[in-house]
Amino acid sequence: MELIFATNNARKLEEVQAIVGSHFKILSLNDIGFNDDIPETQPTIEGNALQKVEYIFERFNKPVFADDTGLEVKVLNGEPGVYSARYAGSNCSFSDNVNLLLQNLKGKKDRYARFKTVIALKMSAHQSELFEGIINGVITETLAGEGGFGYDPIFQPNGFNETFSEMSPKTKNEISHRGLATQKLVAFLKTL
Ligand code: IMP
Repeated sequence: MELIFATNNARKLEEVQAIVGSHFKILSLNDIGFNDDIPETQPTIEGNALQKVEYIFERFNKPVFADDTGLEVKVLNGEPGVYSARYAGSNCSFSDNVNLLLQNLKGKKDRYARFKTVIALKMSAHQSELFEGIINGVITETLAGEGGFGYDPIFQPNGFNETFSEMSPKTKNEISHRGLATQKLVAFLKTL
């Protein structure tokens, strides 16, 4: 079965394809020849994930899923949350975001944070499903590791002594927010 994954993030595609395995062929936006930006204007992670699938389904009329993720930091009242990608401004880099977050947490003892992913799946005009994955952890004081992307060098999941960036992709996939949400997506797809 072919499923569109509404993303062009190569690392995400690899992560998700590794979990989905050979049961489904995942097509990226590039694969279907879609090169525009999809609007992400909703105030919640769930809303943005749904907005992305609606947008692509309207144009391609094919099963599609999309994810949206936020990093929620307790002492910052859940920020950056839905604004995680553009925390440091509209054209900022991953390292701009990481540096701003470290600066905003300077001197703070409570470093609790969680990643939350919501995957929206739209199978038909009348069927949409949501799958959520959450991982709890802390924001480290300094960056560690080379792997992954985004806030990975400063996020240490509970029960581990290493950041996401220091882990193998396999370990990160098994425990991560997106990994957990994807496992729920796959379990659902297998019931079809
Ligand atoms: P998106 O909604 O998946 O694009 O995620 C929004 C932002 O959250 C990204 O731009 C990254 O900064 C961050 N993010 C999402 N997933 C991860 C992850 O697995 N590790 C680290 N940062 C992530």
